Amino acid sequence: MKTWPVPEWLGELPSRVNAGAFAHEAGFGPQYVVNGALAELTTIKVGGPAEVLATVHDWGQMAALRRFCTERKVALTLVGKGSNMVVRDGGIGGVVVLMGKGVDRVEVRGEEIYAEAGVACGTVARAAREAGLAGLAFFGGIPGSIGGALRMNAGAYGSETFDALVQVWCLDALGEERVLKPLELKPRYRGTELPEGWIYKAGLWRLAVGDKEQIREQMREINRARSSSQPLHMPSSGSWFKNVVLPRDIEGLGKAGEKVNAWKVVDAAGCRGWVEGGAQVSEQHCNFFVNTGNALARDFDVLSERVEVAILDKLGIVIGREVRFVGVDG
Ligand SMILES: Cc1cc2nc3c(=O)[nH]c(=O)nc-3n(C[C@H](O)[C@H](O)[C@H](O)COP(=O)(O)OP(=O)(O)OC[C@H]3O[C@@H](n4cnc5c(N)ncnc54)[C@H](O)[C@@H]3O)c2cc1C
Repeated sequence: MKTWPVPEWLGELPSRVNAGAFAHEAGFGPQYVVNGALAELTTIKVGGPAEVLATVHDWGQMAALRRFCTERKVALTLVGKGSNMVVRDGGIGGVVVLMGKGVDRVEVRGEEIYAEAGVACGTVARAAREAGLAGLAFFGGIPGSIGGALRMNAGAYGSETFDALVQVWCLDALGEERVLKPLELKPRYRGTELPEGWIYKAGLWRLAVGDKEQIREQMREINRARSSSQPLHMPSSGSWFKNVVLPRDIEGLGKAGEKVNAWKVVDAAGCRGWVEGGAQVSEQHCNFFVNTGNALARDFDVLSERVEVAILDKLGIVIGREVRFVGVDG
């Protein structure tokens, strides 16, 4: 029988999920499957199954499941819209949680908008627009959930998730609700410091009053820009690497300390179009790694390492991945 690693922060005891005990003790009902396929739940469409795949439909269930997994030392992994994760070929041990209906509320309150982790960023962008509130148009082009956007501090076209955020609701590792000010989560470029085992539940954004038609046009413009520059017709996880701060002057890229788009660095290292198995550095946008049809997660890992080595060898730059690999090798 396959054994799965237990996350370090949960301690050293080996642990397996007993599906029957899981359902009964977590008071969870029938909304789970054993060996649940994950590849199709991610936008890059690779990877093995979840040991247990569960869908939560309310925050009480989510809290009970969080507590149960912490007490039993079972790993719990959240999948939002799967648009920034590559599941490794051996799959994910423990419980993988999907956000169902009931954890996706979005509500406009005057000049503020409240949105729960399960709702799509695009839905929130449209709700803000319809209420004539400006500042979240960039969400319109991000194919993730609010939970994933909070986790990643997702951003585009000069705006980030944490910019206009005024309050955040989380569940801690025992499922207790915590209300925080955004700065307590130490937002940074494409990341936050959410304590181990915590879950983003919701956010509240305070926005400026804007013109609905102007916001609509801004969203259209963002979509036009994306579809002309990004390989949206192919499975991918969006931007693969994080943008880079140049460690020194590099001819053709810029001066020391300048922030440079990752695609320019990948291009300067000569990696555009590189292929490994079914994974490819997109010809159209070389910070997108695309699945040409039959890729394994391993192909993406190997391709990424080849590109990282080329960037280090040719340019002396250490580039970091924006996409998150989860699970174990096959
Ligand atoms: C075509 C395309 C374009 C993209 N464009 C952009 C862009 O312009 N800007 C940008 O920033 N990103 C972009 N992305 C990447 C991605 O959409 C964002 O990072 C998004 O915020 C991820 O959300 P998700 O729900 O898909 O997260 P997932 O991929 O499901 O999860 C990402 C991480 O967050 C964790 N997580 C998910 N939900 C929660 C929660 N409730 N609490 C705690 N942790 C959680 C997961 O465990 C995982 O570690 C793009 C992706 C694609 C495919």
